[in-house]
Amino acid sequence: MRRRVAILGATGSIGTSTVDVLQRLGGREAFEVTAVTGARNVALLAEQAVALGARVAVTADPARYDELRARLSGSGVEAACGTEAVVAAGASADWVMAGIVGAAGLAPTVAAARNGATVALANKECLVAAGSFFLGAIEEGGATLIPVDSEHSAIFQALDREAAPERVILTASGGPFRDWPLEKMRAVTVEQAVAHPNWSMGAKISIDSASMFNKAAEMIEARWLFDLRPEQVEVIVHPQSIVHSMVGYADGAIMAQLGPPDMRQAIGYALSWPGRAALPVARLDFAALARLDFEAPDETRFPALRLAREALRAGGSAGCALNAAKEVALEAFMAGRIGFLDMAGVVETAMESLSSHSAAASLEDVYALDAEARRVAEARCAAST
Ligand code: NAD
Ligand code: MG
Repeated sequence: MRRRVAILGATGSIGTSTVDVLQRLGGREAFEVTAVTGARNVALLAEQAVALGARVAVTADPARYDELRARLSGSGVEAACGTEAVVAAGASADWVMAGIVGAAGLAPTVAAARNGATVALANKECLVAAGSFFLGAIEEGGATLIPVDSEHSAIFQALDREAAPERVILTASGGPFRDWPLEKMRAVTVEQAVAHPNWSMGAKISIDSASMFNKAAEMIEARWLFDLRPEQVEVIVHPQSIVHSMVGYADGAIMAQLGPPDMRQAIGYALSWPGRAALPVARLDFAALARLDFEAPDETRFPALRLAREALRAGGSAGCALNAAKEVALEAFMAGRIGFLDMAGVVETAMESLSSHSAAASLEDVYALDAEARRVAEARCAAST
């Protein structure tokens, strides 16, 4: 029997890598693709749907429905549109890639969880904004959660099934501004922030890497995925992005997962777990690498890390506030309304403002907290322009 798979966010960076892995591991002969979803790029979405023989292609954007339908006409692939259709796509398969960016990924990924699927989780916002609620949905549905974020996949691959970790050490490339002085960082442009030294990713996550808000989110993501206390989550800067993360045990041993910076390893692992399939990623040549460097992160130039630690300690709605306010701050930075270093102040204001709220217990709660944090963050952005 072919495995039933769905790809949420198929047209994005994670999504196109997932399509590539599925094609290399047998394509439509090996997998029954129940759904692929996208938003604006319906030309690519239609092409992917036809290549994989998907049952349905869904655009989240109703304004693109006619174009999608026209492109799929005669192909045998059904076209659909809108939020509900994306959620239905989440509930349509046994293995679901959660590759939508941002809070929009929450509802369809929760649908996959409630349907008892194996959820390959790239969308970190599910855990950052709604950790306890999302894990509750996974448990209720009897679903299996496999991390795809490279650091968390590394930790998952390095975990000992018999012994609990003492610490996890997330590696961070340090991004394009790793060694820039504070003064120079104030004047950073969007173009400079988008250019990641090692990984090729979507624009937003690239800027989040440059500000280290991505690592901040990943600290919270790790806390939920691996049931850790705040002090068990560490970050180390590792400019080469070869060691994807590490797990330390009570006997002093450290297990690390290494590889070239290529998301197809983590995606292929999530698809093959608990086994391993042959994947087309480059093989490491240690003699050519010659060295791997590590340095302590600087929380003055990268205040996102300090905010993440505060969110870990505070619990409750802090992750939701951090995530939502960060998205608002990021949009404001991309629009040229606030400076690169102003993003942290916007996030801190929202975290303080929401500090008395408890954690979300339903999707509606998540949306309400998210909206409140966005409102506060928006007001703060407006005040600084
Ligand atoms: P991307 O911007 O390249 O792609 C996002 C996908 O989501 C696209 O298919 C887009 O059509 C879809 N989408 C956007 N808005 C939507 C909406 N409102 N409703 C439905 N669909 C929508 O992003 P990406 O880099 O592939 O990242 C996807 C997720 O994976 C993010 O949460 C990111 O943090 C995480 N992630 C990405 C990488 C990476 O290497 N790119 C690594 C680790 C984690
Ligand atoms: Mg990552």
